[in-house]
Amino acid sequence: MPKIYLLDVTNRDGVQTAKLGLSKLEKTMTNVYLNEIGVFQSEFGFPTTKHESHYLQANLELAEMGVLQPIRLGGWIRAITDDVETTFKRVPSIKHLNVSISTSDQMITGKFQGRKTKQDVINDMTAAVDAAWAAGAESIGVNAEDASRTDLDYLVEFGLAAKEHKATRLRYCDTLGYDNPFTIYRTNKALAEKVGLPIEQHCHGDLGMAVANSLAGAKGTIDGGQDAYINTTINGIGERAGNADLVTVILAVTKSKDFAGKYQLGGSVDMAKAWKIAKFAEYAFDVPIPINQPGVGANAFAHESGIHADGVLKDPENYELYGYEELGRGDPIKVDTGREIIAGQYSGISGFSHVMGKIRDVSFKSKEEANEVLELVRYANVLSHKPLVEDELLFIARYPQIVKQLLTVTPLVTK
Ligand SMILES: [Zn+2]
Repeated sequence: MPKIYLLDVTNRDGVQTAKLGLSKLEKTMTNVYLNEIGVFQSEFGFPTTKHESHYLQANLELAEMGVLQPIRLGGWIRAITDDVETTFKRVPSIKHLNVSISTSDQMITGKFQGRKTKQDVINDMTAAVDAAWAAGAESIGVNAEDASRTDLDYLVEFGLAAKEHKATRLRYCDTLGYDNPFTIYRTNKALAEKVGLPIEQHCHGDLGMAVANSLAGAKGTIDGGQDAYINTTINGIGERAGNADLVTVILAVTKSKDFAGKYQLGGSVDMAKAWKIAKFAEYAFDVPIPINQPGVGANAFAHESGIHADGVLKDPENYELYGYEELGRGDPIKVDTGREIIAGQYSGISGFSHVMGKIRDVSFKSKEEANEVLELVRYANVLSHKPLVEDELLFIARYPQIVKQLLTVTPLVTK
């Protein structure tokens, strides 16, 4: 029976969101946490964007070192041969790509303005796929942007052309959040049956149905005989009204009626990491988790009314669908209410040693080593503008050479 895999796009769709972003160290920590929670692939950035190069190469090195394993790191580019060439020039170790092109009449007319026909779109895509294989790619997803507003016959033709050129998956992008669970089930089932490739569900929340649509699309894909790859972001952060939230998707697949047991997640997903990853994204994006967010919201396990409180105390299953422990909740949060010493861009060695001394398992071999790590902490803080979390400090102490590489952002201005 085909399965559902998680392909998280926080480091691509999440960071391209208006008014929001992550530093390169925060993007790296996001990949570390996504690996821990058991996501199949992280769409980790933009290989054609100059300021991403060092970060992308550094993360691929972490994969080679076994730190970012078994997660796959995939880049996002436009489905044109120029982008493929630039990708392998800037990020030579990259192995996994998603290549994207618009397929709807609206976008072919409205964006390309008569410069491309529907056949040109297919030709550009297949040429990009061929070029990526030739350059050394190991997997290629082909993205149909605005697939939900694309005529199904053309979408099948597009998918079959991708398959003929040995594409690994087809990404069905509900770019505008236009679908509902009934329509996406139908379309994804038809695509799985007629194209015969695994289908990715890329859903947005403009009508409040990103998670429901992802599930329905995945069900359609599996019923059509193919593996499904749901695109998620942490806390649902993404363009406009956002994407399908990672933790909610995991809950919906594993806990919802008639789904759990029948349609299963592939890989080994560890939901106990949910709290940690959601809280990190909340801090790094500086976007509070809504009080009523499934699983990780402040009210997700709060009960006040007499009947509910009495019922849940007698047996939690009276009013809770799943336990808070399953999401890694339950430990008290320690908050310092007295003096605070913070490691930042203007810190000295004394304050830094104090901060690091409070973290277990950290000891420096020499004063030089401590100074070197402090210097990296200063630079990381210059880019994130907020105190680093304990995991980030530990990561810098453990992998200083990698951090040095990913913090290097050299403007390449062509005259
Ligand atoms: Zn998107």
